[in-house]
Amino acid sequence: MINLVLFGPPGAGKGTQSEKLIQKYGFVHISTGDLFRWHTKNDTPLGKRVKEIMNSGALVPDEITIAMLKEELDKNPQAKGFLFDGFPRTVPQAEALDAFMKANGTAIHHVIALEVTEEELRTRIAKRRTIENRADDEEEKLNKRITEYFTKTIHVLPYYKNLGRLNSVHGIGNIDDIFINICTLLDKK
Ligand code: AMP
Repeated sequence: MINLVLFGPPGAGKGTQSEKLIQKYGFVHISTGDLFRWHTKNDTPLGKRVKEIMNSGALVPDEITIAMLKEELDKNPQAKGFLFDGFPRTVPQAEALDAFMKANGTAIHHVIALEVTEEELRTRIAKRRTIENRADDEEEKLNKRITEYFTKTIHVLPYYKNLGRLNSVHGIGNIDDIFINICTLLDKK
């Protein structure tokens, strides 16, 4: 079992690369952003709780996010491996994830950070805005999401670096080239 965290700011290409990685390696994909969007779209009790928070561009509180993640892990006991996309976004989330993995006799084996400049992120999200019509891609909300990334989520990097599990991949350029670089890291170990 191989478990991977794909890490990066909003617009870094996590979703795009996740799709390709799932196809190649058969990971169970856990995207907390997709899960929250599913709940808000279907107006579930959880969706009602997080809708306003998400629309503002802020992070959902850890206790809610971690509980949802745990539920998702428990639904997939036969998984060959998990790909975490958009999780963890805070150090307590990273610690919780390690504890869940350990309790299941496994671990997070790889953390791959997609490195993209802020300028490039803004250009990409402006483009995505015209295609996907995501409420939180609007300028003001996007600013909040980028601030959340640089104030809270960025601290997850030294957490994994200290554990010796962090690798970075240059996230600008041809999608297939970026994918090959990620695969090279995964296949090396
Ligand atoms: P994403 O699609 O990953 O950019 O996530 C969209 C939104 O969902 C974020 O801006 C947050 O409001 C919420 N969200 C997704 N994942 C997390 C997480 N790990 N922790 C807190 N909030 C999250």
